[in-house]
Amino acid sequence: MIALSLAEIAEIVGGQSHDIPDPAAIVSGPVVIDSREVEQGSLFAAFAGERVDGHDYAQRAVEAGAAAVLAARPVGVPAIVVDDVVAALGALARAVVGRLGTTVVALTGSAGKTSTKDLIAQLLERKGPTVYPAGNLNNEIGLPLTALRATEDTRHLVLEMGARYIGDIRYLTGLVPPRVGLVLNVGTAHIGEFGGREQIAQAKGEMVESLPEDGVAVLNADDPLVRAMSSRTKARVLLFGEAAEADVRGEKVRLTDDGRPAFQLHTPTGCSDVTMRLYGEHHVSNALAAAAVAHELGLSADEIAEGLSEAGTLSRWRMEVTERPDGVTFVNDAYNANPESMKAALRALAAMGKGRRTWAVLGHMAELGDASLAEHDAVGRLAVRLNVSKLVAVGGREASWLQLGAYNEGSWGEESVHVSDAQAAVDLLRSELRPGDVVLVKASRSVGLEQVAMALLENA
Ligand code: ATP
Ligand code: MG
Repeated sequence: MIALSLAEIAEIVGGQSHDIPDPAAIVSGPVVIDSREVEQGSLFAAFAGERVDGHDYAQRAVEAGAAAVLAARPVGVPAIVVDDVVAALGALARAVVGRLGTTVVALTGSAGKTSTKDLIAQLLERKGPTVYPAGNLNNEIGLPLTALRATEDTRHLVLEMGARYIGDIRYLTGLVPPRVGLVLNVGTAHIGEFGGREQIAQAKGEMVESLPEDGVAVLNADDPLVRAMSSRTKARVLLFGEAAEADVRGEKVRLTDDGRPAFQLHTPTGCSDVTMRLYGEHHVSNALAAAAVAHELGLSADEIAEGLSEAGTLSRWRMEVTERPDGVTFVNDAYNANPESMKAALRALAAMGKGRRTWAVLGHMAELGDASLAEHDAVGRLAVRLNVSKLVAVGGREASWLQLGAYNEGSWGEESVHVSDAQAAVDLLRSELRPGDVVLVKASRSVGLEQVAMALLENA
């Protein structure tokens, strides 16, 4: 963070100073919400969570070097006391980023935000220091914490913005206004809370409504609901995708023999070939989105193609490929699942596993409403059509739909198994896996299937 005195911070957030001996003391370290992450000169923001109350850790934070605590009540150590710590954190982020000349890139979408954020960050770092969230810090707390890591040297600030409700993105773009705003796709994530895809589009579109006239709205040409957002912005529109109208376009999209996406990248300034290190064809769209942002910020087609070809996963459990010493390959995509990415992951598994025994360890896909049965059935069927060797369906009713789909497609018997939970899957795989096998692990977040990959990798 840029250096600010406690007095300046108190003024920015409209807070009262308590137990502060020296208002000129400087906060220079990171702003943190976990007292174990405090460094000398940190600001510790205390939140009252469901299980723990950060205020109970105020003293520990100051002992560890925090200059002060941002708190909702006096805590007996130096504190700036505000009514609403979340709002104060946001106000601080807005003020700090406002003082910097950093280019702010923000992205939203139903699926692929974190993956695309990682791709964008790896491209932009080629041009200059880039701050971006580690993992998934995309809400009203994580976003300001990330933004506050920016300093005078930061050339680009990349922010992921998640939305559960109408108004969420408006709030986040209000905190740290982007110049480049990207919308990836409008799918069905959180459709229960939103009520329908139109409402999701309404919510995601707040991204482009926030952009200034000299800003750029980066929109997915292949997603009609995203493309339609071009009428909701004052900013210039840059389209990405495979459609002929896309300004940044992927052509000749294919999977390599081992399942990695490859395509020809066309930008307004050039053309270059990309072969990704990442697995899964859903990354093509993410890569084209990242390419569009990078093009806008001055990278050539060759630089972008090289960057995309070298980019790896920075966030865990997203098509994370690990080789066990005995030659079993794990593809851990257990972070989350939706029908598109489930199918993409199965196709990647089939390509990677040519000539080897392949296992699809799959759990349920959440939030599909009425489409749930048909979507699970379709995934089970695809596993058979792709000649996956073994399907392990993990969980309750939806898992049985996966298995039933496989059965109906191929009269599968022994090739598919239904187990009740992650532990049962671990037990099964522990006794069955052989050197050379390839194992895909994927389900919605709530299933917790990452445990399967982790348990089986640990005891290798
Ligand atoms: P969250 O809403 O949890 O923050 P996110 O939008 O950040 O999710 P990622 O974490 O990048 O998304 O990816 C989550 C899962 O979505 C991945 O495991 C992958 O299977 C899938 N996914 C990634 N990109 C796409 C895409 N372009 N289209 C469909 N699914 C995708
Ligand atoms: Mg995310």
